[in-house]
Amino acid sequence: MRLFLFVLLILLMVACQPEDEKTREAEMYNSSGDMVGTATFSEQADGVKVKVELEGLEPGFHGIHVHEYAKCEGPDFTSAGNHFNPTGAEHGLMHPEGPHLGDLPNIEADASGVVNADLMLPQVTLLDGKNSLTSGEGTSIIVTKNEDDGMSQPGGDSGERIICGTLTKEKSKGEKSPTDPTQNNDESEK
Ligand SMILES: [Zn+2]
Repeated sequence: MRLFLFVLLILLMVACQPEDEKTREAEMYNSSGDMVGTATFSEQADGVKVKVELEGLEPGFHGIHVHEYAKCEGPDFTSAGNHFNPTGAEHGLMHPEGPHLGDLPNIEADASGVVNADLMLPQVTLLDGKNSLTSGEGTSIIVTKNEDDGMSQPGGDSGERIICGTLTKEKSKGEKSPTDPTQNNDESEK
């Protein structure tokens, strides 16, 4: 019974978070600086869901990981640092001492190079607190040329970084800027 109440309390707390803190969209750019899609993050009771919509990839499997810095400087995107790993784990969804909290299952581009995938990042949050993807400067999400083998260190032997997008506390450009609750939120002024 106590556990039930605890779970209910957590659900209520999650349900009461303002909507605009619960989703974030990362615009995804290739190494030439062209926008090739989006990654949409949404807060769930058990982690963060990531909806990945991309085009222009080589057909087949590609690795995808959350990285520790919100810096996508092409063409190699090394500016984004290593995989997001606040718990000091080993890399890989199949590694016995893994995974990094930023490790995700491979995504598959279809014959026309399109990816449309729903992925899950357990144990992380978009809100403040432990393992937050948006605390400080934020993080980034990167797609690699090859698939992640789920085991090799430090990055699953997944090859070059080919697409990068940043995830920060603020909404990305082009979206409504964070509103000041003391001001009247009138879209027609723009
Ligand atoms: Zn990793």
